[in-house]
This record gives sequence, C-alpha cells and structure tokens, in this order.
Amino acid sequence: MIRFEHVSKRYPDGTTAVDDLSFEVKAGELVTLVGPSGCGKTTTMKMVNRLIEPTGGRVYLDGQDIAGIEPVKLRRRIGYVIQQVGLFPHKTILENTATVPALLGWKKAEARQRAAELLELVGLDPGTFGSRYPDQLSGGQQQRVGVARALAADPPVLLMDEPFGAVDPVVRERLQNEFLDLQERLGKTVLFVTHDIEEAVRLGDRIAVYGAGRIEQFDTPATVLGAPATPYVAGFVGSDRGLKRLSVTAIEPSDLARPVTLGPADPAPSAGARLRAAAADWAVVLDADGALHGWVTADELAASTGTVGDHVRPVAARAWVGSSLKDALAAMLQDDAGWIPVMEGPRFAGVLTPARLHTALRRSVNTAAADSLPVAPASATSASEAAGRSTS
Ligand code: ADP
Repeated sequence: MIRFEHVSKRYPDGTTAVDDLSFEVKAGELVTLVGPSGCGKTTTMKMVNRLIEPTGGRVYLDGQDIAGIEPVKLRRRIGYVIQQVGLFPHKTILENTATVPALLGWKKAEARQRAAELLELVGLDPGTFGSRYPDQLSGGQQQRVGVARALAADPPVLLMDEPFGAVDPVVRERLQNEFLDLQERLGKTVLFVTHDIEEAVRLGDRIAVYGAGRIEQFDTPATVLGAPATPYVAGFVGSDRGLKRLSVTAIEPSDLARPVTLGPADPAPSAGARLRAAAADWAVVLDADGALHGWVTADELAASTGTVGDHVRPVAARAWVGSSLKDALAAMLQDDAGWIPVMEGPRFAGVLTPARLHTALRRSVNTAAADSLPVAPASATSASEAAGRSTS
C-alpha cells in the first residue's frame, strides 16, 4: 500500500535525514516507526503526504508514484494525526471534526452527520461534546477529536506522528487501547511514529527500528524483541526485552500440553488407575461439550470411591488461545499454579506450563537466534511440569 524505494532526504545544509530507505507497508497493516529523536522518522512520514519531498528514490501509494499525484488530492487519501492536535480554537468540536468533509464540498447537514458518527466512533458523545470548544476538552479528548477528524473523509491511509505523546501515561494507554479497537474495525493502513518502544511493540503489526537515517530492523514486535538484528537494536529495545516479548506473543494451540482428561461421571478408582498407567499425577475434568469442570489428582482418585465429579477441584484462573503469554503468566502467578488451563472459546484446549511458555516464546524467534538459547525440555505433562499446582 505504501512503498519506499531507495528513498533519501538530504537537506540543503547537508544533513542526511533519511538514507536509501526501502520498505513496504501492506494494506491494513499498522507499522510503527520507532527510534531516538532525530533519526528520520518524521521525515519518512512526511514524505508520504508530500509535506517533504525526497531528494532521491520514490514513494508509491497503492502502486502509484506519489510524485505524480497532486498534493491536495494525495492528502485526501491520507488522514494525518499529530501530537499538537491542531484543532481550530474558535470552532466547535463538531465543526472541527467536519472540517475535511466541508472542504470536500459535502452538504452541511451531511458533513455534520458524518462528524457526529465519527465522534461516536472515537468514544465522544456528540450530544455532550459536539457543541463544546477545544479548550473545554481534556488533552486525551482533544486527541480523540484529532483521530476523528483524520478519519472524516474515510481515507485508506493514516499517518500518525506521536499522536499520544503529550498525554499522561494512564490516558496514553487508554488511547492506545481505543485506537487498537478502532483499527481492528476499520483496518486502515497506518504509519505510526513514536520514540517509545513500549508503544511501538504494543501497537505495531510490524515495527521499523530506526538508527540514524536508516532502518536497522523491520519485523514483527516478537521477532524484534526476540532476535534483535544488531547490537544497536538490542540496546534500543532494552534489557527487559524478554519480558516485553511475553506481551506480544499470543498463545497458539500448538503451544499447549494435552493432559489426561476425564469425565465427571467416570468412576473414581478406575480413573485413578488410568492416570497411574499414564504416569500422570493429575487430570483435567471436562464435560461432554469440552467445558472445563476442574482438575483431580491421581492419589485422591485411587484412594476413593464414587465418581470423578465428587473429587473435582475448581480452577480459578484460565487463559484463552490468542491471548498473550503475559496474561497467561499473570493468571498462573495469581493462582500460584504450575499450569493454567487454556480455553478456545467455551472448550478446553490444553494447558500452559512454564516450560511450554518458554517454548512458545522461542517460537516467535528465528531459528538461528533460538538455537543459541538454552532449551528446556517441553514434554507434555511431565512430573516436573505437573508438580507446581498446589493441592491444598
Ligand atoms: P525524528 O522524527 O526521528 O525525530 P526527523 O525526521 O524530524 O527525526 O529529523 C531527522 C534529521 O533531519 C534530524 O537530524 C533533524 O535535525 C534533521 N532535519 C529535519 N528537518 C530539517 C530541515 N528542515 N533542515 C535541516 N535538517 C533537518
């Protein structure tokens, strides 16, 4: 959707802001450009909407060389959100949001209708906020209006330059979450500039890590964190990159161990014998639909009568396929357990253990880098994996 081919920007004073840059942002993808101040991120972004012209190379939008597209027409296809929101102080929030449709010659009523929809979309009630002026809104609310305004003409591409940089961390996290929700629904092609690596890995489908004027690595957050391409990238992403990876790696069914499963109506003694035969200390209990009832220990079953259902222990914490390893680990720690059941919708999918979690973390890293890491065994429900869940 956006393609840079050998793009350079040299300023007349001799500063090379961007040097021979080539990369592509696919349609519907959110790419974050991250790096320290002055490394060329904003220059890169402004070459997409022709606020800055390259001194070398070409930029393509949807296959078209943008040098051949009139800037005003080009910018209609590209929403632009900046940190200093740039709302008109003497216009209401509704009028501010309707700026672009008004410029495009929409009828007044249509433009206002569109603006109201957009305010709704970014979580601002048009009835409450529409008639206010920008200085009657908090910084976070103004930023939402900035996003709404950029979306007004429904452009396929959004450029966002440190849009959440000026608000406090709590509001920033809320705005980031809201924006991710919005992006999930809208599927825009987004180029997002930030100097904050946390923000970059949180939002980006892929991230471009900038050194001076060039991209040092362009890959998924999990790979950049797990296998930094250069010592510079490793330094930039930080010594806690292992922890950061937990939050950007999602649980897949193949990550899970499959323990023995029992039904609540199974007779306890024979179920106990089955567990013993399988050298398993415990099992999970599922009903016929695969819903999770809890878990049982082999010792307790073997020593008792009745059914498995009489001995079920509840499992408070659980995780879901697709949620992050960080959430699963947090739940595991919360429950003080050595494993956590993972659900796929309403059905039990398997369990995640610390060893499995480690294997899942390594999955996202390229083989070469992974080979250099010490590897823990990750067999299914080995005794050591099962040992951690307290039976008290
Ligand atoms: P970033 O967005 O990563 O902070 P920029 O793209 O704004 O970086 O700037 C990249 C480099 O280009 C910096 O060294 C900056 O000082 C320089 N630069 C930006 N604009 C100009 C200009 N108009 N003239 C000369 N140098 C500039």
